[in-house]
Amino acid sequence: MLNNFVRCMNKAGIFDFYGNLRRKITKSQISILAYHRVGPQTDGWSLNPLCEKIFDYHINYLSRNFKIVSLSNLSEMIKNGNVPEKAVVITFDDGYKDNYEFAFPILKKYNAPATVFLATGPVEEKNLFWWDKINYALFHTDMESIDLNNIGAYQLCCNEDKLLTGLNIQEKLKKMDNNKKETVIAELIDLTDVNIPEKLGKKYLLSWNEIKKMNRNGIEFGSHTVTHPILTNVSLDKAKWELINSKKCIEENLGTEVESFAYPNGDFNTKLSSLVENTGYTSSVSVFPMQLLKNSINQLYKLSRINANIKDFNILKLYLCGLRGDINTFFNRNGF
Ligand SMILES: [Zn+2]
Repeated sequence: MLNNFVRCMNKAGIFDFYGNLRRKITKSQISILAYHRVGPQTDGWSLNPLCEKIFDYHINYLSRNFKIVSLSNLSEMIKNGNVPEKAVVITFDDGYKDNYEFAFPILKKYNAPATVFLATGPVEEKNLFWWDKINYALFHTDMESIDLNNIGAYQLCCNEDKLLTGLNIQEKLKKMDNNKKETVIAELIDLTDVNIPEKLGKKYLLSWNEIKKMNRNGIEFGSHTVTHPILTNVSLDKAKWELINSKKCIEENLGTEVESFAYPNGDFNTKLSSLVENTGYTSSVSVFPMQLLKNSINQLYKLSRINANIKDFNILKLYLCGLRGDINTFFNRNGF
C-alpha cells in the first residue's frame, strides 16, 4: 500500500520536483549512502545482500543524475565551501567479501569512488561478525527452542522463527555492555552445540589482497572499529583503543592515511565525536536518513547517511530528493 503510494508519487514527478525545489532553496544537497552487502542471496542466515542487479541500477542512476564524490573529497569540499550541487557519496560498512566480488566491478564500470569501513578485528582474524555467528548457530542447530539467561526463550522451529529470533537477540545485545554481549554469544553458541567452521570467515570477509586491489582502483578505506562494539556501550578508554588500533591496522596494511570513521550501528554522542576528531580522523558518519547542506562543517563528525539497502527504487528516490529526511526532521522537532 505505502509502496504503491510512493511509486505513484515518483511517477507523478513529485520527488524530482521536491529535490529541485529543495536544491534551489538550500543551494546544495548532499546524500551519503550506506550499503553493507551486495550480491546474490546464497545462504539465508547471514546479513541479507542487495542484489547486484539492483546495485548496478542504483549506481547507474547516481552516475547519470548526481556527482559521485569520495568521502575524503566531500570533507575537503565542505571545509572549502565548494560542494557541488548534487553530491552523493557511496559507503559500505563492515568489510564483506561481496564488496569486492560484486560491488567493486560495478563501481569500476561507472568510475564511481566509494569508501569501505572495515571492522579490522574480524578482517585480520578471518572471523565472522558477531551477528553472523549468532545467525549461523541458530540456523544450524537441531534444537527447536532456546532459552538464554536474561535474554529470553525463543522458538527455532522454522527458518522464519530463526530469522526473527536472530533479529530479536541482536537488538537486545546491541543495548548491552560489550563484555556481557560476548558472554551471551558464547553461551548461545554453546547451547546450540554448533561448530562454526573456521573457513567461513575467509569466505565472507575481505582479504587484505582484495582490499589493496580495491584501494589501488579508487576505493577508500575507513575505520569501523576493531571489534565492532556499540561505542555508546563501552568506556571512553575502550572506544579510544578501538579508534586508534583500527586506524593503525589499515594504515599499516595499505600505507595510506585513514581519514574517515563509521560508528557501529550509527550510535554516538558528543564525547565520542570529539574523541574521533582528537584521534586524527577528518570525518565520521552515522546512520540517519537526512540530507546535508554544503555548510555542514559543524557536522563533519556526525555526518548523516541513508541506509541504501533498498530494493524498491521509488523509496530510494524518496530519500535522495530529501523529502524522507525532512519528514523525519519535522516530526523529531515537533516531538512526535
Ligand atoms: Zn557495522
